[in-house]
Amino acid sequence: MKNTVAFLLFCFLMSSSLLRAQITRAEQEMLTPDDVIADLMAGNEKYITGKLTDGDIVSRIEASATGQHPKAVILSCLDSRVPVELVFNQGIGDVFVGRVAGNIENGDQLGSMEFATKLSRAKLVMVLGHERCGAISGAINEVQLGNLTALLEKIRPAIETVEGFEVEDRVSANAAFVKAVTQQNVRLTVENIRKGSPVLAELEKSGEIKIIGAMYDVQTGRVSLLD
Ligand SMILES: [Zn+2]
Repeated sequence: MKNTVAFLLFCFLMSSSLLRAQITRAEQEMLTPDDVIADLMAGNEKYITGKLTDGDIVSRIEASATGQHPKAVILSCLDSRVPVELVFNQGIGDVFVGRVAGNIENGDQLGSMEFATKLSRAKLVMVLGHERCGAISGAINEVQLGNLTALLEKIRPAIETVEGFEVEDRVSANAAFVKAVTQQNVRLTVENIRKGSPVLAELEKSGEIKIIGAMYDVQTGRVSLLD
């Protein structure tokens, strides 16, 4: 009887979000890219409704000390309003996160993604842009400052390829234009990841991973997947 009660209590605790544990290698292997997308979007729903469940940090530090089997690698902007793990209700050991202003890819980010997927077996590469991005506005305004100049130059192709705006409307004061450029920048970054990394392109082609773009709304906290 005592054992039964203990077992039931164990089952309850394991199913409760407070004890959500880091996934094992076997569990990671079972996941499909679509499973991971669904998990992240479900986590975002918890985030925007104030129901985060990353409860027991101390035990997760201990549990993750000997290894990691993250589900995804997420390339995000530097912006402090996009706390990536919180946004998707993920805890220690759940996701790799690469950050750079404007969430653009470069050789080091690609190498990190190759490590995350090919070697560490993460199933998803997500490029996460966000609305009201200072890097995008800075690039539109052609801000010049030290090393930032070269970084913002990498956003220029997104500015130049956005269609549907008259010349006078292609300014940072136009929120619709900034949003369109931000989405275009995510889409181009996804394309550039495929072009720049045969390793990742091959993993995607074989169905082992997906490479997707998404947008974070700083007003609502909601993440939307891009087509
Ligand atoms: Zn930003």
